[in-house]
Amino acid sequence: MSALAARHGAVNLGQGFPDFDPDPVLLDAVNQAMRSGANQYAPLNGLASLRQTLSDQIAARYGMRYDPETEIMITAGATQAIFTAVLALVHPGDEVIVLEPAYDSYIPSIVMAGAVPVRVPMTRDYRVDWDRVRDAVSTKTRAILINSPHNPSGMILRDSDLRMLSGIVTTHGLLVISDEVYEHMVFDGEPHQSVSRYPELAAQSIVVSSFGKTFHVTGWKVGAVVAPQAIMAEFRKVHQFNVFVVNSVMQVALHQYMQDASYAQTLPPFYQTKRDYFRDGLAKTGLKLYPCEGTFFQLVDYSAISDKSELDFAQWLTTEIGVAAIPLSSFYADPVENKTVRFCFAKKEETLKLALERLAALG
Ligand code: PMP
Repeated sequence: MSALAARHGAVNLGQGFPDFDPDPVLLDAVNQAMRSGANQYAPLNGLASLRQTLSDQIAARYGMRYDPETEIMITAGATQAIFTAVLALVHPGDEVIVLEPAYDSYIPSIVMAGAVPVRVPMTRDYRVDWDRVRDAVSTKTRAILINSPHNPSGMILRDSDLRMLSGIVTTHGLLVISDEVYEHMVFDGEPHQSVSRYPELAAQSIVVSSFGKTFHVTGWKVGAVVAPQAIMAEFRKVHQFNVFVVNSVMQVALHQYMQDASYAQTLPPFYQTKRDYFRDGLAKTGLKLYPCEGTFFQLVDYSAISDKSELDFAQWLTTEIGVAAIPLSSFYADPVENKTVRFCFAKKEETLKLALERLAALG
C-alpha cells in the first residue's frame, strides 16, 4: 500500500509510522554518542545503563522489579524480540494461541518454530472472548500471544481481561508473550494494564516493547524484552546467535534521553489530540468509526459507502480518493471480509488535514 500510495501521490495513512521528526534532543544524543566513541559492539544483553533505566522505570510504572542483569535484554526491535521469544520458548508440535486480527509476524514466527498457531477470533467489536480462549487450550498448548494496546483494532485490555488471562495461564501452566509496543499510547486517562502489574502472570510472561514506537523512531529498530530469569535464559540462547548484539549508538542515546522520564506522561495526550482531530473529521464522512482506546490506529467500517472487498476498497481509496489505508483482512490468516480498513494517525496535523479533506468526498 505504501508503494501504491507513493505512485499515486496519496496521503499515506497505511503503514504504521510517524511522518514527523523525533525530538532533536534525542537526535543530538545520537550524534554525541557517535562522536564520543560508542561505535563498537555493545554488550550481549544490551547496554547495562539502559537496562538499569528500564528496570527502574518499569518498577515505577507497573510495580514489578526486573533484574537488569538477568531479566532484561535489548533487542533489534519488537519483531525480532517476538520471533526470538517464540523460537526460544516454543517447541516443534506445540500449540500457540493467537488472537485474530493479529500483527502479521506472529503466525509466521510460530510456524517457523515448527509449532502450530491456534487462531482465536476476537469478538465483532474487537474484544477478547476469554471463554473461546479457554476452549482453545489443549494439552499441547505451550503459550498465548497477546497484544495490548492492540494493532489493528485500538482495543486495550483491562484489569478484568488480565485477571481472566491470569486464571487460564496459571491453571494450564502456559507462557505468555505479551506484545506491549503501544504501552504509552493509551487514552482517556486509562492505565496501561501491562502483564508486569500482575505478579502471577508476570512469572510466566515475556513482555515486548519497542523504543521505535515510543520515541517516533520506527526505523531505528531497537526494542526490549523483560521476563523472569528462567525465561530470559532461554531467550538469550537464541538471541546470541540470531542477533548477537544491538546497535550501540542508539542504546547510548536512548539511555541518556530516557533520564527524563516525562515522555510517559506526554505521549498519551500527544496522540490523543491526533486521535480526536482525526476522528472528528472522519465522523463527518459516511465511514463508521470503531472505538480507539489506544495505539495510533483507527478502524473504520465503510459498508455504508461501498460493497467492494477490503483490498479493492483500499486500492480504490488510494488511487481515486488519494488516501492510503490497510485492509483489515491482511491481519487474518484466512480470507475474512468485514468491510473494514485501518488508518494510521501518527501524522502531522497538516497530513491528517489533507487526508480529511480528501476523505470528505466519502460523505
Ligand atoms: N508489534 C506490533 C503490534 C506492531 O504494531 C509492531 C509495528 N508495526 C511491532 C510489533 C514491531 O515493532 P518493531 O518495529 O519494534 O519491530
